[in-house]
Amino acid sequence: MRSRLHRYSHYRGAPLRKVTQKESTEIGHCIYCGTTQGKLTEEHISPYGLNGLMTLLHASCSKCSEITSKLEWHVLREMWGAARTEMGYQTRNKKRPDDLFSIVVVKNGVKSKRCVHLCDALKVILLPIFNIPAILDTRDYFGGIERISQDQFVLVEQQEDLARRLDVDKVCVPDYDPEVFARFVAKCSYGYAIARYGSEAFESIYVCSAILGKENDIGKWVGSPTTREFKVRKTPMSVGFKILTDNDVLVRIKMFPRFDGAEYVTVVGRMRKFCADQYRLMRKGREAPST
Ligand SMILES: [Zn+2]
Repeated sequence: MRSRLHRYSHYRGAPLRKVTQKESTEIGHCIYCGTTQGKLTEEHISPYGLNGLMTLLHASCSKCSEITSKLEWHVLREMWGAARTEMGYQTRNKKRPDDLFSIVVVKNGVKSKRCVHLCDALKVILLPIFNIPAILDTRDYFGGIERISQDQFVLVEQQEDLARRLDVDKVCVPDYDPEVFARFVAKCSYGYAIARYGSEAFESIYVCSAILGKENDIGKWVGSPTTREFKVRKTPMSVGFKILTDNDVLVRIKMFPRFDGAEYVTVVGRMRKFCADQYRLMRKGREAPST
């Protein structure tokens, strides 16, 4: 696997844009399994750990929420924990400000895990790069998702400098599961699509089984586009939407757009033709020259 390595030693905590207005949409059923039974909790569209304040109210049952929380934990904490903390993103562990982060080091040829404070943690943002979603491609697809490359943004102190300071041979970047990452991307994209169009606008949703881990088809719906379209800006996430000719809805997201890293597209589901046509008409109206 090829990694595009980026060095951000000059990173010194540029201020984050703070969204203080909470935006919420009422749903009333679990957006993943459809149940209206039991306690339904609020669902963060843009993750809380990326300072997201957009939520769907009464939108996730406890069973589904348990699954999606694990996806968020893996990405926000295990992949990006130290870098996110360094950049000042919020954390649910408010009572433990001097939280420990785990790093993997190699010393005298032996790999081991260590728990360290933020100052000694490797602050790295890893963004796997995939093929485009198989549904948009003509390639044969057999399940799962393949990481073909990766963007790697190292903040503050480079791996070799940190290794020297900690007196080890090497500090490794965190190991992670690209499939869990892709399911996390699908979850965010799906949430944004529901917030924008409403769940009634869809005749079918493609991504739910993959998000919940019930189907091994995440690579069919999620992937990396061949071009990067979003501008560099200081928000935690950039999001764009497109209704394709067959009424499939595509959501494009870019995490940490300040670093100009990988972008992801997710084909979340198919919109009802009636709704899709309405959006097309609205769009046409906006694009028409005014007289
Ligand atoms: Zn559910």
